[in-house]
Amino acid sequence: MGMSIAIASQKGGVGKTTLAANLGAAFADLSFRTLLLEVDPQGSLVRCFGLDRYDLHHGLHGCLVSREDAAEAVERGVRENLDLIPANVWSHDEERALLIAVEGNPNALRDLVARFSAEYDYVILDCPPAVGPLTRACLTAVDRFLVPVQAESMNLSTLERLETLATRVRQERNPALRLEGIVLTMADLRTRHANRVVERMATERPGDLLETIVPRSILVAEEPERG
Ligand code: ADP
Ligand code: MG
Repeated sequence: MGMSIAIASQKGGVGKTTLAANLGAAFADLSFRTLLLEVDPQGSLVRCFGLDRYDLHHGLHGCLVSREDAAEAVERGVRENLDLIPANVWSHDEERALLIAVEGNPNALRDLVARFSAEYDYVILDCPPAVGPLTRACLTAVDRFLVPVQAESMNLSTLERLETLATRVRQERNPALRLEGIVLTMADLRTRHANRVVERMATERPGDLLETIVPRSILVAEEPERG
């Protein structure tokens, strides 16, 4: 049985999609069969792999709204050992339909992830920047969640809101849900401020802060354009 991990934060622009794409690619490079699931209707994960939205005819929307066969939704071999299910949501109406489907059946995403857990070593979910129904469905669907926090931010209240949601999800549907850890991203460790954030995180969340810190790098920002 594979492990499923949601990359979650209610804040946008903290590096969720970048982390999902790179973690997926890293697992795949280590020969783990890996599936990326784009749960964010913004569709920025597919761009990380140079996929053209006009070539994508299936995806999460089709699986959950029109009940298409999930196997159809998988874009195979975006990289060796790496497959991807795009959100495939291109209009406001489609986004609404996806939200309604998920709210109507809170286990739908969980069933979808479970369906692939024998086939893949890792299933990674890229969550939208919100603590709404989609992120709730993601937390309901996975074994663990990983939270990127921008190394500039001293404000931990967004983390608290996500953890409140996680607590509720544990009580309601997924008692085994675990926080995998907090990853500091976009860190410019030449600045005193970033170092203070690292220190503070290490003091306040010693068991949760992961050792790896993702540095701010212009390469990371440019690569999605090249796919
Ligand atoms: P989210 O999914 O949380 O909204 P993204 O992963 O899309 O965040 O990142 C937001 C923006 O920041 C993107 O333009 C991305 O390329 C850029 N970015 C992400 N991580 C880094 C990094 N380590 N260094 C520089 N730019 C980054
Ligand atoms: Mg994103």
